[in-house]
Amino acid sequence: MTQKKSILSKLGYLEYLPLQEEAIDALCSGDDVLLAAPTGGGKSLVYQCAGIIREGIGVIVSPLIALMSQQVEDLRKKGINAYFLNSNLNPNEHENLLWALRNNHIDLLFLSPEKLVQPSVISFLHGMSISLFAIDEAHCITQWGGSFRPEYSQLGQLREAFPKVPIIALTGTVDELTIKTIQSSLQMNDALVLKGSFDRKNIEIQIAQKRKAKLQILFFLHNEMAGQSGIIYCRSRKKTEELSSWLNTLGLPSLAYHAAMSDSDRQTNHKRFLTESGLIMVATTAYGMGIDIAHIRFVIHVDLPDSPESYFQEIGRAGRDNQPAKALLLYGLQDMLKAQQLNAFQNQSGDERKPKLNAFFKVIESRGCRRQNLLAHFGEASEACGNCDRCLAPTSEQNVTIASQKLLSLVYHTKGIQPFSVLIQVLLGKRTKSVLAMQGERLALFGKGKELNEAQWKSVIRHLIAFDYIELNQAVTFCIHLKEKSRGILKSQIQVLLAQERYYPTLDNESAIKETATWHQLMSWKLTQKNSVLSDGQLRKVYQHKPTTIASLSRLTGLSKEIIAPFSESLISLLSRVEEVQEKDCVG
Ligand code: ADP
Ligand code: ZN
Repeated sequence: MTQKKSILSKLGYLEYLPLQEEAIDALCSGDDVLLAAPTGGGKSLVYQCAGIIREGIGVIVSPLIALMSQQVEDLRKKGINAYFLNSNLNPNEHENLLWALRNNHIDLLFLSPEKLVQPSVISFLHGMSISLFAIDEAHCITQWGGSFRPEYSQLGQLREAFPKVPIIALTGTVDELTIKTIQSSLQMNDALVLKGSFDRKNIEIQIAQKRKAKLQILFFLHNEMAGQSGIIYCRSRKKTEELSSWLNTLGLPSLAYHAAMSDSDRQTNHKRFLTESGLIMVATTAYGMGIDIAHIRFVIHVDLPDSPESYFQEIGRAGRDNQPAKALLLYGLQDMLKAQQLNAFQNQSGDERKPKLNAFFKVIESRGCRRQNLLAHFGEASEACGNCDRCLAPTSEQNVTIASQKLLSLVYHTKGIQPFSVLIQVLLGKRTKSVLAMQGERLALFGKGKELNEAQWKSVIRHLIAFDYIELNQAVTFCIHLKEKSRGILKSQIQVLLAQERYYPTLDNESAIKETATWHQLMSWKLTQKNSVLSDGQLRKVYQHKPTTIASLSRLTGLSKEIIAPFSESLISLLSRVEEVQEKDCVG
C-alpha cells in the first residue's frame, strides 16, 4: 500500500475525492495550492494528509479555536500526533508540546493566526523542519468578508520567510476577486488553483413570490415537509420570536435562535434541535457556523439573504446526509427594497458588500434554471438541473420591453421621487389619494399600463433593479435614478424578457390550518418509528378520524391488533396530546 493510501485509511476513509488527490499531489511536489470548495467539501483532509506525508511538521492556521481543538482531538483518536498551540495551555500541556517539538514527534501543529505571526513563533519555526503551511478560512484576508482578521494580512511574510515550504490556502468562497486577493496577499501567485463544485443536487430549490408568508409556510410544512425538521431564516430577532411562537400556538413544535438570546438558551435550543425530531428552528443567520446536522430536511427563507454565498451556505444546511431536501425562498419587491436599505445602513463606512446583494438579485431574477443561475455566480457552468421550480414546472416567458420603457419614462418624468406603488397606480390609471396628490392623472402615461397587473408591474421593477437599469437611493429620502444602461431599453436596443410570476400557494382553509399540527406530529412520529408498518395512506386515515381506542385504530388501518401492538399506545396518546393543545388554543 502506498503511503498516501495508508494515511487515508488511518484517517478513516476509503477513497480520495478527485480534488483532494490533485491538491495533495501538488503539495507533495512542493507546489502552492489554493483550494476553494464549499463547506463540507472535504478540504481538511488535504492538509492533514499532505502534512503527514511530507517530512516535517504541518502547520495549520485557523481562526476558529473551537473547531481546531475539536479537530486535534479527533486526529489524536486516530493515532495522529496533532497538537494545538494556544495561550490557554496548562503547564502540563505546555511541557508535552515542548517535548514533542524537541523530539520530532509532531505531525500536525494547529495555531491561531495571532499566534503564528508573533516574531518569536516565526523564528522558532525557522529552526524546525516544516512540511507545509495551511491557511484555513483564507478569505478572512479580504477586507470585505464579514470575518476580516487583521493578522491574516501579515501571513504574506510566510512565503519569503520559508521559501521552500509549500502553502495551501483554503476557503469556502470561490469568487474570482476573493481568490485573487488571497493569492496576492499570501504571495502565492503561482499556486495551483482548484475549485470544488457548489452543486448540491439533492436540494430542491424553489424561489417564489411572497404573499401571506405565514400561510405559505404552512402550505409548505403541510404538503411538502410534514413531520420533518428544518430551519426558517428571518432577518430580525423579533421576527424569529414572533414566527416561532405563532407556530407553537398552532401546535407546530418550534424554537427560536438569535444572537440576542442568552448563551444557555441558545445552547438548549440547539441541543433540542439536534436531538429531537420534527422541530422547526426559526433563526437569524446567527444560527449557522459549523452546524452539521444530518436530519435537517428543509430551509425556508422569509427574508432575503445578503449574497449568493450566504444563500448557498444557508440552504446547504439541509440534506447534509445527501438524502432529498428542499429549500424555499419567498420574497417580493418590498423585500428587495428592504434588503438594499439594510445593506446601505450596514455599509455606511464603505460600499463593499453591495455588489454581493446585487449579485443575489440577479440570481433570483434571472430566467431559466435556478441552480444554473446560482452556480453561474460561482463560475460553474451546468445543465438545467431538473430539481428546481423552473425545471419542475416550466413557465412561459413574457417580453416586457414596452412596459419597461413606460416605467422608465415615468420615473424620468416624475424625477424619481415617487415610490413604486404610486407609479404603478398611475400606470394602471387609479385615481388614488397619492396619485391625485402628485397630479398623476394629468401625466401622459396615466392609465397606459393596463396590459400588466400590479404583480406583473412589480416583477418588471424587480428586474430593472436587479439588472442595474435603475438604482435606488434610500439613505436620505427615497429616490430612483435611471442608470446609463437604461437608454438601451428606451431605444429598444435591449429586449426585456421575464419569466412568469409564480406565487407559492397558501394554506388558507381554516380546518387545514388547524389540522397541520396533527399531521406534522403524526408524520414526525412515523419518522421515529424504526420499522414503520403504517403507510402514509393509513396514517392519513388515522389523522382524519383520530381513533381513541386500539380497536378503532385496528379497524381504520385494517391491521390486526397484534400488528399494531408495538406502536398503538404511543400513537393514540400522541393523538390525544395534540388534540388537547388545539382545544386549549381554541378556548384561549
Ligand atoms: P470542509 O473543511 O471543506 O468544510 P470537511 O473537511 O469538514 O469539509 O469534510 C466534510 C465531510 O466530508 C466530513 O464529514 C468528512 O468526514 C467527509 N469527507 C472528507 N473527505 C472524504 C473522503 N475522501 N471520503 C469520504 N468522506 C469524506
Ligand atoms: Zn433547475
